[in-house]
Amino acid sequence: MEYVKTRTIMTKSDQGSRWFGIDYHMNLYKGCTYGCIYCDSRSDAYHIENFDEIRSKVDALKILEEELASKQYKGVVSFGTLSDPYNELESKYKITRGALELIKKYEFGVSIDTKSDLILRDIDLLKEIALKNNVIIKISITTYEDDLAKVLEPNVISSTRRLEVLKELRDNHIYAGILMTPVLPFITDSEDNIKTLIHKAKEKDAKFIYTKMGMTLRRKAREYYYEHIDKLYPGLSIDYKAVYEKNLVANPLRYKDLLELFVNECSKNHILCDMSEIIADYKRKIPTREQISLF
Ligand code: SF4
Repeated sequence: MEYVKTRTIMTKSDQGSRWFGIDYHMNLYKGCTYGCIYCDSRSDAYHIENFDEIRSKVDALKILEEELASKQYKGVVSFGTLSDPYNELESKYKITRGALELIKKYEFGVSIDTKSDLILRDIDLLKEIALKNNVIIKISITTYEDDLAKVLEPNVISSTRRLEVLKELRDNHIYAGILMTPVLPFITDSEDNIKTLIHKAKEKDAKFIYTKMGMTLRRKAREYYYEHIDKLYPGLSIDYKAVYEKNLVANPLRYKDLLELFVNECSKNHILCDMSEIIADYKRKIPTREQISLF
């Protein structure tokens, strides 16, 4: 693996509590090999060259430890906003695991987004961190259909397996749910997909399912996406251009109806889907040591 120089690992979140109550962002890796055709991190807004190659940062854990030790506020640190923290090299290099060890040592909280089952390796650390601070895990799933997921996210484990991962986290009393983003217009924006994912979330004891019911179409990521959807559905990019030509965000044509359906289904199934309710719920879920010993 290649290493790139950096001076900082953690940055203060500019979204504050609006996005899952995250206080700090952290990306230990640059690039991702999971190949999701809609990936926003490919956009030139983030300046990540050779996005399909994974690199880490020189002395990442040493710099992280200095930063954690110097912070007054022990907030929630987000892993994986621009790349999956459980990429295919993590099983060998264990940089994400090393960072979790430090999070535990300095008693910070953690928020992780992933599509990988490698997160199960770190259940021991997540439980330890949850003794002192808040933990929230978001398993990213865009469609319940494994065949479709395979073409949209070619190098990722199946949606069925991701749902099993969610269940195993929940069986270990870790606060976890589904991040149903993006929702791709004309592809994953069906009522069937929305309802089925919510029902599967319920089956797996998800604490929440969250969606923005749309996708971003930033420069560079947009061209990559159009090229790939045309291979899957010839001519579909023409429909996108007709509707979303000048938009950075592409919402399904039935956005309002679908969002209403989503909220109603979540309510019927007693699953949280409102951001402020999710934050309020997970941030008060710090179990006692006695409760953890029962897990
Ligand atoms: S796993 Fe996340 S970062 Fe990696 S390609 Fe997919 S959307 Fe992008």
